[in-house]
Amino acid sequence: MITKDIQVNYSIVERFKNLESTKRLAHAYLFVGSAHIGKTETALTIAKMFCCEGEPAGEQLFCGQCSSCKKIDSSCHPDIHFINSDFGEQIKIEQIRELLTQVKLRPFMAQKKIFIIKNVENITLEGSNALLKTLEEPAGDSLLILTTSVPEKNLDTIKSRCHMVRFLSATQQDLARHIKKHYNEDEITAQYFAYFAEGCFGKVKLLQEKKWFQKKNEIIDGFLYKGWNDDVIKKILEDKEKVKELLDVLLSWIRDCMLIKHDIEQNNLINIDREEDLKGFADRFTFEELVDLNREIIKTCKLLSEKLNLKIPISVIKEML
Ligand SMILES: [Zn+2]
Repeated sequence: MITKDIQVNYSIVERFKNLESTKRLAHAYLFVGSAHIGKTETALTIAKMFCCEGEPAGEQLFCGQCSSCKKIDSSCHPDIHFINSDFGEQIKIEQIRELLTQVKLRPFMAQKKIFIIKNVENITLEGSNALLKTLEEPAGDSLLILTTSVPEKNLDTIKSRCHMVRFLSATQQDLARHIKKHYNEDEITAQYFAYFAEGCFGKVKLLQEKKWFQKKNEIIDGFLYKGWNDDVIKKILEDKEKVKELLDVLLSWIRDCMLIKHDIEQNNLINIDREEDLKGFADRFTFEELVDLNREIIKTCKLLSEKLNLKIPISVIKEML
């Protein structure tokens, strides 16, 4: 029995199944959607479906038991090639050259060879130009699946040679429902995770692993209630990921305070577990001051994405509190 992977977009897998059975499968696809939305998991599921040698039971798309399925699970299938680059990690020309050599060979055990390139925006210009050749002169038995969360960073020449497949974000309600069911969380925690998961089931898992609910309260106590001294903040500034967490938590907090000022229903608060603190905090500011704070935090988030030094912007926010 195969348990359904929550990160896989099965409607997209089904679409590929139909394309293949009606002989309309193209040679190259670009999967576009937020980070952690399940693009790679979906691509690997498609690979399993196309390569499975067993007899999938009922509505299953692959058997999960045959040598092909097992080889894909352990990343050693000779016909599945996966270039994995993490956020900001460059894909080198050598990796693309190796891929081009493989594209020209016939499959070893499956009907087709499948190439998955994760975060294709990380490819160097040289690499892109090499890849273009494959996209222009496809080998009949190969399927290329490229993934990206930032389509604007990819060359138009690459985009125009691929069929675009968009992964839509899940609604907060859907996410909260899944979190309650799959992670056994209470309503408050589920709502909180759903907000921070930004539409991605995959991100829920990451938040859970990070013990995010506990962590966000440490950030609130530390930064907003003056528990942290300059040394702690200096340490945080050294780690981009930690700065992002701090800014995300601050945004959620100020957002809640603005809602409280407007007497919005409390069910909509993200930090509902800290309702009393929120009320006390909101009392100290006018609505305009909260708007200014919100603006300052958003401005700092932008600077973070531009990789600028955040020492001064963070101390400006701290002064405003
Ligand atoms: Zn199988």
